[in-house]
Amino acid sequence: MVPILLLAAHAAAEPSAADLTQRKADLEKKLSGDGFTVVIEGPFVVIGDEGKKMTEKRATGFMRWAIGLLEKDFFSKRPDKLIEVWLFKNEKTFRAGAKKYFGDDPDTPYGYYSPDRDALVMNIGPGAGTLSHELVHPYLEANFPNVPSWFNEGLASLYERPVEKKGHIVGLPNWRLPNLKKQINDKSLPEMGKLLATTREQFYDAEFDAYAYARYLLLYLQEQGKLHEFYEKFVADTKDPTGQAALEAVLGQDLATFEPIWRKWVIALQGDNR
Ligand SMILES: [Zn+2]
Repeated sequence: MVPILLLAAHAAAEPSAADLTQRKADLEKKLSGDGFTVVIEGPFVVIGDEGKKMTEKRATGFMRWAIGLLEKDFFSKRPDKLIEVWLFKNEKTFRAGAKKYFGDDPDTPYGYYSPDRDALVMNIGPGAGTLSHELVHPYLEANFPNVPSWFNEGLASLYERPVEKKGHIVGLPNWRLPNLKKQINDKSLPEMGKLLATTREQFYDAEFDAYAYARYLLLYLQEQGKLHEFYEKFVADTKDPTGQAALEAVLGQDLATFEPIWRKWVIALQGDNR
């Protein structure tokens, strides 16, 4: 017999300091001679192939900063399991490492979150924005269990280019903007209701740029000072799986009224391609 209550209580626990120390020791043993540095940065354990100094700098610098701001603004709960953060120095070592340690052939040159293997696996070479993107996923998993893919990837993408303003994390326009403008201009971007209603498969297989669509919807809310209010409402209302009711409530408009305003705003939005 499986003691279900005990199992549930154990499964819901944030990793303890002892868990983190043990995992670090286990990883150092397993990876001995492979050229990795293992660093504890609670609630995560970071594994990097960029050398000791750089891996420690990533963990205690950017990663600690991003986690602190994300937790402060959005997430009261930490991931309820120990998640490893693997930082590879370039696409070559990322692909080789994903294969060797996880048996994965990534469909992206940047990185991914594997909830089954409890790991964020990424190529940190192009920049730390991949790390702040991926960190959002386990936090949403812990705090918003039924999060639809559009919001999961929209919020993660928003923080691909994070800065701090008055103690809060803010996403800036980035390389996803030009393609979104193009799809608005050539009328290939579907109605917003379609984005909000996408299933997981529909989102990831979309013919339109679903990541950019979701990112810039959330960037709009951020610029209006309504992103946090939207998030709280969306998480709280289990009868609103797409977020449309929460969106219309914080905007004070229905989608049909809002969508042309948003499209105009995107077209006028300036930003570089970083
Ligand atoms: Zn993602």
